[in-house]
Amino acid sequence: MTTLGFLVIWVAVQTAPIVDVVYPRIAPGDTIPYINKVDSNFVFGSVQPAGSRLWINGIEARLNSNGSFLVFQPVDWVGKRYSLVATAGLDTTLHEVRFTTKPLPTPAGASSPTGEFPRMIELSGQPLRTDPRGTYFIFPTAGTRALASGYSAGYYRLDLTTGRSAWVEGRTIRTDLAKALPPDPVAIWKIEVEKESNGVSLFIPVDRKLLVRLADDSDGDRILIELFGAVSHIDKVSYPPGTEFIEEVTWAQTGDACIEIDVRLAGQLWGYSGRWEEKGYRLKFRSSPAVGRRLEGLRIAVDPGHGGQQDGAIGPTRLKEKSANLVCAKVLVERLEKSGATVLLTLDHDSALGLPERTALAEQFNADLFVSLHHNALPDGVNPFGDFGTGTYFYRPQSRELALAVQREVVRELGLYDEGIYYNDLAVVRPTAQPAILLETAYLMLPDQEMLIGREDYPDRLARAVEKGITSFVHERLIHRGR
Ligand SMILES: [Zn+2]
Repeated sequence: MTTLGFLVIWVAVQTAPIVDVVYPRIAPGDTIPYINKVDSNFVFGSVQPAGSRLWINGIEARLNSNGSFLVFQPVDWVGKRYSLVATAGLDTTLHEVRFTTKPLPTPAGASSPTGEFPRMIELSGQPLRTDPRGTYFIFPTAGTRALASGYSAGYYRLDLTTGRSAWVEGRTIRTDLAKALPPDPVAIWKIEVEKESNGVSLFIPVDRKLLVRLADDSDGDRILIELFGAVSHIDKVSYPPGTEFIEEVTWAQTGDACIEIDVRLAGQLWGYSGRWEEKGYRLKFRSSPAVGRRLEGLRIAVDPGHGGQQDGAIGPTRLKEKSANLVCAKVLVERLEKSGATVLLTLDHDSALGLPERTALAEQFNADLFVSLHHNALPDGVNPFGDFGTGTYFYRPQSRELALAVQREVVRELGLYDEGIYYNDLAVVRPTAQPAILLETAYLMLPDQEMLIGREDYPDRLARAVEKGITSFVHERLIHRGR
């Protein structure tokens, strides 16, 4: 071989561009990526070396300085493929990505039930929905029994009281109960307000578990308890000394078998937890924490989203959400501790942890606040060249002000598009024990935001902003309460 021939081969080996398509993404256990049947979709990934060019299905894609790319194109549902051509100098790489349609979800378990209605069933703690595809609105305790009056598409209908029903997924319940007659509504005789070590509680003596719906209002000084399967014989409410936080308890029979108990509070609600005890239902109110000039005295749970097998979102250069979340969470913990807070990191290394376990850890830790850190992605079919940036999620009215304060500071610090806050039924922000938020700081799939997230100073900037938000929320709330 001549020297020149050798050189040509050497150059070719050196410069043939490397194309890495991150999305469409092959899920673990699959051999082909599945995408939803949408007209247009995004494709993202990266090409090396710097200075390459890229065409996807014949359309040139913009490459960023780090080689990342993101396009939004019509999906070729005939060929079911993306053809990528990358060039670097005289060298060309052809790369093909095949994909297929996401199969429709198989209907949730359970063939039609045998036996008659109404029938007694036992709930597992799975939330109840407004209809088989509806929103969760009642969060029962495992072991609660209820009367099912019908069945549809894998779901049992429970009659709560006249004209009101709830639905529960058939495969989550027990139906093999010994023949039990429908219970009459249970009589409620009295309500007891009691002093607790760190707050007050309301106790309703009942001899079996009932379905309970709790609703706190956004002023945060009132909570409504709906008890289903109960009839009021209430003629006594006791208010011993030291329980002044509960100002007044009133009740109304709002259906054949439903009592609504209205609890008015002397101050703003910080958190509460309802649970069944052997002799009745107890709703414990948590008093506001005593916080120093900065965050001394405050207990905060910091929760990095995903981990282990769950990568979460992924960026064009393969930065994983779980890694970004964990790095940011650790820096946030350090910062909050320096300000005097006592902090729990729900997950301190890259491993799997379920959502109920995360909130249970926070409750065991007696956390005053819960903050979950995430980085976002878009679902198939959404044009990513829109307004996407920072968003904060909450579920309970008591968490709304915290979401607003943290959102404001993170937007101010990072300067990304302000999506505002979202009410959203997410498992980690659903608990009632403390104000809880989930922060979607930025979109990993957007090349410029992935670059921002990967910068060395990013975790500290984010941590500083979250800390500022928490501090202003806590101090405003405590001043509002007049300490
Ligand atoms: Zn996430």
